[in-house]
Amino acid sequence: PFDVLIVGGGPAGAAAAVYAARKGIRTGIASERFGGQVLDTLGIENFISIKETEGPRFALALEEHVRHYDVDIMNLQRAKALVPHADENMVEVQLENGASLRSRTVILSTGARWRNINVPGEQEYKNKGVAYCPHCDGPLFKGKRVAVIGGGNSGVEAAIDLAGIVGHVTLIEFDTKLRADAVLQRKLQSLPNVTVILNAQTTEITGDGQKVTGLHYKDRATDEIKQVPLEGIFVQIGLVPNTDWLKGTIELSRYGEIVVDAKGQTSMPGVFAAGDATTVPYKQIIIAAGDGAKAALSAFDHLIRTTAP
Ligand code: FAD
Repeated sequence: PFDVLIVGGGPAGAAAAVYAARKGIRTGIASERFGGQVLDTLGIENFISIKETEGPRFALALEEHVRHYDVDIMNLQRAKALVPHADENMVEVQLENGASLRSRTVILSTGARWRNINVPGEQEYKNKGVAYCPHCDGPLFKGKRVAVIGGGNSGVEAAIDLAGIVGHVTLIEFDTKLRADAVLQRKLQSLPNVTVILNAQTTEITGDGQKVTGLHYKDRATDEIKQVPLEGIFVQIGLVPNTDWLKGTIELSRYGEIVVDAKGQTSMPGVFAAGDATTVPYKQIIIAAGDGAKAALSAFDHLIRTTAP
């Protein structure tokens, strides 16, 4: 069995693996796609000490760093269940391929994915004007016109954030009213370079083959199709944690995030979690990596208290 088994090979899982392996304990990492969301990212400019890099390059660096240590890397492995064996102080992780792995501690770092709006143009112009993370990509649209799709808290926060950087923000909400907290809505209304369009269904993202040129939406009151010229579109209709396989075994928040305490401990003894899959706020690479380190140290702390000498 492993001392530490990590499920998920994004920044959180990679950091956990490096920290665990450096304690000289048996460490394994199973992941569906080593690198995680970073593989889908073009430019990264906010991982402190690296002024600028590209996602696939960053993912490769993560893997190289992990491979530098004695870590059992199991790539293309999808976990399907977590089973505690309290009597033996063991946790079992069952994989889709039928295999099962046993470990004294487990770190869950299965990340999350942005919900897509699934309209024509979205996939085609991803990273070419279509973005999901204002903290990451906001500065790329300095002085330009952008839309934010979604009027919940994350959409309105994104619009407020972007209004300080870009030229103009159009916030598009499907419903007849915004769903964000009143204080955020007041702040939004006070901004001179924001237009809010309610009752609007985005039907298409348009581009010139290279980059986004705008979007089309249907005015749901009149069924009229309208056009907004834009350089960027931020889709803010939710971030979905990859935790379906954990339902019923550990405590999840109402958004499906793994509930963790300040040490990354979950509701199941010996099981820790880190990164975008958890309740830790602000889903960012540097935060996920820091969290992974923390979860590994917590797992080690658990081991020295529970394992016979
Ligand atoms: P993830 O990166 O999501 O990794 C999850 C891992 O778990 C993957 O290896 C996945 O294959 C695996 N996995 C999932 N389910 C299972 C399962 N059942 N069994 C086994 N393995 C599983 N952040 C920044 O800080 N700066 C940026 O510039 C930036 N740009 C971004 C651009 C885009 C397009 C996207 C999508 C995100 C961006 N982010 C950026 C956010 C950043 O990528 C995430 O915050 C970060 O990757 C989270 O790391 P993580 O390790 O928690 O999860």
